[in-house]
Amino acid sequence: MNTKKIDLLLYNTESRALEPVSPLNGHTVLMYTCGPTVYNFAHIGNFRTYVFEDVLRRTIKFFGMEIEQVMNLTDLDDKTLRGALDNNISLAEFTAPFTKAFFEDLDTLGIERAEHYPKATDYIPDMIHIIETLLEKGVAYKGSEGSIYFSIKKFPSYGRLSHLHLDELLAGASDRIAADDYDKDQASDFVLWKAHDATRDGDIFWESPFGIGRPGWHIECSAMAMELLGESIDIHVGGVDNMFPHHENEIAQCEAYSEKHFVKHWLHSEHLLVDHKKMSKRLNNFYTLRDLLNKGYSGAEVRYILMQTHYRVQLNFTFEGLDAARNSLDRLDAFVKRLHTINELESHGFVTLVLNKLLTSFTEAMADDLNISVALAALFEAVREINILCDASKVSKEEAQSVLKTLASIDTVLHVIPLAPKEEPIPQDLVEALEKRQNAREQKNWKESDHYRDLILSRGYIIEDTPLGARLKKQRNS
Ligand SMILES: [Zn+2]
Repeated sequence: MNTKKIDLLLYNTESRALEPVSPLNGHTVLMYTCGPTVYNFAHIGNFRTYVFEDVLRRTIKFFGMEIEQVMNLTDLDDKTLRGALDNNISLAEFTAPFTKAFFEDLDTLGIERAEHYPKATDYIPDMIHIIETLLEKGVAYKGSEGSIYFSIKKFPSYGRLSHLHLDELLAGASDRIAADDYDKDQASDFVLWKAHDATRDGDIFWESPFGIGRPGWHIECSAMAMELLGESIDIHVGGVDNMFPHHENEIAQCEAYSEKHFVKHWLHSEHLLVDHKKMSKRLNNFYTLRDLLNKGYSGAEVRYILMQTHYRVQLNFTFEGLDAARNSLDRLDAFVKRLHTINELESHGFVTLVLNKLLTSFTEAMADDLNISVALAALFEAVREINILCDASKVSKEEAQSVLKTLASIDTVLHVIPLAPKEEPIPQDLVEALEKRQNAREQKNWKESDHYRDLILSRGYIIEDTPLGARLKKQRNS
């Protein structure tokens, strides 16, 4: 089936409508995803967004498009700076272990690597350049304490992403705000460059034409997005809590600077709740990925629970839900194992019908704004039907291979199906037999070397010669 015939439609936060994805440059979807602030281990709420972005990335590829993705690493903001100062170490020393942990967590969750992971501290000259331009254009100004602010009154479409009515908000708002993050009722001029304040920032600062200091958080993403992907990009993604003020400010900075439309398609993933409550350390319902691994759950199980709820719906995380995810994966595992054991020769043709229906339903569901619950339901329905056919010996070995191929295709999106059955460890006496065979060969004792080879073969293993030496491999269907 040709999946390219179906358009991938995604909900655009800005237009509040489903819109097709098609690359602006005709070949590659350019996608910017707001990344982690590397001041701590990321929690499962953060990972809900990153898993969603991974499913999105994989779906775009499934629909035959190329993708170039940036995920920034926020290594410079109020929080990382506080951490470095409190621990009396440099910013780089403070953020390095959390950056390393973040990449380990991505691997655990099967999240495919983006093409770029820029660090904010590597793009400060680009940020300074944008701020200078905004000052020249009169969109930015210097506040009394020396910091530079963006004047939201000078950007008439401010608020269009989060659908705010600026005139109403400005009535009760303060003039300007220097914090990196704030609420909707504080819509006000936001900081682009924070003049150095030794009590706040210690001795961490950068030189700039507007005096020593450091960039505000919002300008960081604007600079990295435009530098790496260009002034107009296809897709920008983040958690719903980034919509205001962060993404609204990104639009204002980029478009006032470039005078081009910054983002065609905005996507936001909803919050994660734990037992219907906002996750917080105080409520003792706060989990990092590592907390769940320590409780014995696998990366695939956590990935499954994080992705199985539609991204625009709040996800309620519970341990019962995580156990259910484990059961779902166990069913898939048993199914794959069963397919590997099928030896029937006669094909009946029923499997092809089930597989065609599965691929169509799966593709249509993902094309409909990543309707993952419908896509997963189609998968489990096909598993159920093929299991019934297996019970009736109506699945041939060749058909079982087609099922595995279809699962592999679907799994380029899901990345949770245990396609390769877990390799059993090689028995220790056979490992020793292989060593003895090698020794015998070195001593040209062919009789003894043949003896060990036969022993290994009789136990269903073959000897594979590799550039790194001989190793044992289990024979298929033995
Ligand atoms: Zn961002």
